[in-house]
Amino acid sequence: MPAPNHRDSRPSTAPKRKRRVFHRRKVCRFCADSSLVIDYKDPRMLRYFITERGKIIPKRISGCCARHQRTLTHAIKRARTIALLPFVGSMDQG
Ligand SMILES: [Zn+2]
Repeated sequence: MPAPNHRDSRPSTAPKRKRRVFHRRKVCRFCADSSLVIDYKDPRMLRYFITERGKIIPKRISGCCARHQRTLTHAIKRARTIALLPFVGSMDQG
């Protein structure tokens, strides 16, 4: 059975199913806004890219490009090491 589509399904070729008008093209926010800098010393910014449990959000959800996702991952891991970000979620304690 051949693979139906590429990884990201294109909006033009959707034969059946309900057609969804809501198709938002994800753009890497770091590519779009050059003033945004990925900084491991900025946990508030990095926290946007981790779940409540402390997991790094994958790029297919975050919408980052490969280069920035890699930079981001590196920054998050570095921030974890110096205890700016949790390794495991801290929302639910107890
Ligand atoms: Zn990017």
